[in-house]
Amino acid sequence: MSFGVYYHIPYCASKCRYCDFYSRGGARTVPPEYTAALLRELAAFSGGVPLHADTVYFGGGTPSLLPPRDAARLIEAASPRPGAEITLEANPDSVTEQTLRDYRAAGVNRISFGVQSARDSQLRTLGRAHTAAQARAAFAAAQKAGFTNISGDIMLALPHYSRAEFDETLALIAGSGAAHISAYLLKIEAASAFGRHPPDGLPGSDEAADFYLYAVDRLAAAGYAQYEISNFARPGFEGRHNLIYWNCGDYLGLGPAAHSCVGGRRFYYPADTAAFLRGEAAPVMDGGCGAEDFLMLQLRLTKGLSLTEYRRQWGRSFTPAQLALIGQLKAHGYARFDGETLALTPAGLLVQNSILAELL
Ligand code: SF4
Repeated sequence: MSFGVYYHIPYCASKCRYCDFYSRGGARTVPPEYTAALLRELAAFSGGVPLHADTVYFGGGTPSLLPPRDAARLIEAASPRPGAEITLEANPDSVTEQTLRDYRAAGVNRISFGVQSARDSQLRTLGRAHTAAQARAAFAAAQKAGFTNISGDIMLALPHYSRAEFDETLALIAGSGAAHISAYLLKIEAASAFGRHPPDGLPGSDEAADFYLYAVDRLAAAGYAQYEISNFARPGFEGRHNLIYWNCGDYLGLGPAAHSCVGGRRFYYPADTAAFLRGEAAPVMDGGCGAEDFLMLQLRLTKGLSLTEYRRQWGRSFTPAQLALIGQLKAHGYARFDGETLALTPAGLLVQNSILAELL
């Protein structure tokens, strides 16, 4: 079973209006004390025994504010196996060809750019700090720096959204050589600036669903196969780190608000950077991982849930009532089921929460 290490970087240059991730705006870099705190927590977990991570993921926040030499120390501390996937999320305005070369030298081999839209007016509405031209330049710089595994994020159903805006954004990202694309529907989070002051022109839920299904089609036509609700890849470029989450593997998350699941036990650090820096943010135990988690996570993936695995790992099989529901889902185009594997179609993935509520 694979093991992943996640480093949360809770610093951003400014706060995007839709964002409720745990991060603080106004940062120009990640302070050295923060890297020291991550290293301290990793050492406390590992007890000096090499972790042999299969994946390392720098998420945030804005990990591209982390000095490359600090990224190198954090990668080394995770003692990655040869061939490990090492991802850094980056904002297009916070990288140069030189910093990207330095990240590669540090061991990063996968870069993920938050592009969101190819329209500058939309980027301003979202409160993003970059422009479309900067996004193009960031992809070009990453390729010049030697990255071949590059991902781009797209947000769907944005204010006054149109299929043309999606097409332009897909063209920007695919035309820039991305091997992987994440496409998310905008969700208005209560704790975000949009939650306090919703923007004009938001599509309704039916319209948003249409944009999602349109995106799935266009991404497939462009050679990006869907493998998870919001993730699409050229063959062989599926994100290995996130697949550890969805396949119920073990992962260690370090940093305020970072979650872990190791040996079936879940825990997280409180969302308090100051306490984390002082070494006063002990991980909080958060229960265990069970059969229902496995079913829910596997049904995020287009490969679906194998009943053989469900039985082998958890001793579970479907009840007659569940089988009747699955029959209805199949008849209405929400699921595929051949008696062994249950998988949701794109239409089913869109309403996954309601399907799970009924199924469980
Ligand atoms: S979306 Fe990303 S860059 Fe923007 S505030 Fe949130 S974490 Fe920072």
